[in-house]
Amino acid sequence: MTHDETTGSAHATPQPEPAPEPLPAPERAPDADVVPASEGAVMWAPPAEAPRRRRRWPWILLVLIVLALAGTAGGVWLAHEAQVRADAARALTAGQQQVIAGAIGALSETDDRIAAQRDTFRTDLAGWDADEAATAQWQQSTDAPSPAVANPGGGAMPGDDPTGRAFLDSIGATDVQVIFDAGPENCGYSGAGSDAWSYTAGGCYDTRYRNWLFLAWERGGEELVWPVFVHEAMHWYQYQQYYPLFLAADRAGVAHDAYVGALEGDASCRAVYVYGIHADEYEDSSSPCDVDGWYEGWLRDHLASLGVRTTEPVATEYEVLEVTRP
Ligand SMILES: [Zn+2]
Repeated sequence: MTHDETTGSAHATPQPEPAPEPLPAPERAPDADVVPASEGAVMWAPPAEAPRRRRRWPWILLVLIVLALAGTAGGVWLAHEAQVRADAARALTAGQQQVIAGAIGALSETDDRIAAQRDTFRTDLAGWDADEAATAQWQQSTDAPSPAVANPGGGAMPGDDPTGRAFLDSIGATDVQVIFDAGPENCGYSGAGSDAWSYTAGGCYDTRYRNWLFLAWERGGEELVWPVFVHEAMHWYQYQQYYPLFLAADRAGVAHDAYVGALEGDASCRAVYVYGIHADEYEDSSSPCDVDGWYEGWLRDHLASLGVRTTEPVATEYEVLEVTRP
């Protein structure tokens, strides 16, 4: 026989038995939830755990809320941390920023240089075209001088070519004529020599009279005439060849005085080197052949050395950056 405290019921047999002695009441633990049942009665007591379990719900909710908040906070923190790391990854060092600023500055400077070079090219090209047009116009001019003062030496050169026609034709100056004039338009021809033992001969080429050569001499100075005449013919040649360069020199701010010595030397040297006039003929003149190693094109190169543009401007000259071509 067992005692079932859960039901509190007693199992009886058909034969009554003497009532057993009551068992001592079991010791209850202080915190036992079991309520002792009375004999023969079924008792119900609400389990102590139920209210306790219900009371736990707020705690559980609180824990869940805390955990949720913690999770959210953790997520926020992680997101913040990731943003910081991303920003750090994107951030530039001072050196990198300096490099970029330098590159941007260099690009800006390059743009300025390109714009400046483009303007310079346009200006130079316009100047070149204007000089070409002025030269073409000048080459159409046919103005002729009028004798002001009769040449003391007469109206014909000594020798076999009294008007210089044969020589002029030989150098392509078929339209050029000589005017024998001792007036002021003959570059200030001064007339008689300073003493009885010297003679004067003088000539001039004036671009106002494109196809004329001035010539004058005093009697006794006939031997000087031919070298002077050839020298003046060389001036005509210079202007036929280089007239635009003289305009370009003026445009570049190179004054005539800056190259007049070269102009005189080039004329005499061309007479010496190309047409066989002896250099001594010019040695004591105002226009000696003083260019050592003179060569065809020397005057052009000399003007270029003074900063005069001697070739037509082309765009590639003004490129700021080298072009890389395959
Ligand atoms: Zn001269």
